[in-house]
Amino acid sequence: MIRLHVPQPLSAGAAVAPTLDQSRYLTQVMRLKTGDDLLVFNGQDGEWRCVVAEVLKKGVILKAQELVRPQTFGPDLDLIVAVVKKARVETIVEKAAELGARRVRLTLTQRTNTDRIRLDRLDAIAEEAAEQTGRLDVPVIDNPVKLSDILDGWEDGRRLMFCDETGGAPALAALNDAPKGPWAILIGPEGGFSPEERERLRALPFTTAVSLGPRILRADTAAIAAMTLWQAAAGDWER
Ligand code: SAH
Repeated sequence: MIRLHVPQPLSAGAAVAPTLDQSRYLTQVMRLKTGDDLLVFNGQDGEWRCVVAEVLKKGVILKAQELVRPQTFGPDLDLIVAVVKKARVETIVEKAAELGARRVRLTLTQRTNTDRIRLDRLDAIAEEAAEQTGRLDVPVIDNPVKLSDILDGWEDGRRLMFCDETGGAPALAALNDAPKGPWAILIGPEGGFSPEERERLRALPFTTAVSLGPRILRADTAAIAAMTLWQAAAGDWER
């Protein structure tokens, strides 16, 4: 069944107006007609079976019928990733949504080559990926922030899996031994971390420095591998 993410509140009988793009997708691509069903979620109220109530020129109107699944959230996992080329950032955001990250924090490091970030485009990618996976929330994507600022403002109790291309403990073993709870994964830019950044990261009390293997991976591959390993050790299998 089609799954659509909307910002509006969902409750029995609530009318929902998807965007014009979403409406076109429903009627022109998926060929939905008045009376057809689809699933709708907003990241708060669970998943609702909705019916197409009206097809208008300016978009469709849906009506929420019944709660199909109560709201759930995945594990509390942030992906912090240095800005890389636009196409790779887009891949990383899509895969982060698929692999269950709650938030993607773009960051600027000493060796980041900035590419222009279009947050609206990244939000749309995260939304579509979330719709496709069946998860009931959409990851939040943050505008780029300097790595030093992220570290200065680090939240109490969150652990950091620092993916260090110069070596570290094998990731799965290190994570199996590490505390559970809120985590973040840090992936560097194509130029890698500077010695100064690496030194600071390794000295922080909340950090676990890990290796993803003896090969140097591209940032997008590293992000996927790191999230998979984190999920294998600490993830949400039981949900
Ligand atoms: N230019 C760097 C590589 C950067 S790869 C060099 O040649 O050394 C981009 C990022 O992916 C790295 O900063 C790191 O966070 C992650 N990464 C890539 N391969 C890795 C590995 N084998 N182990 C841990 N992290 C890795």
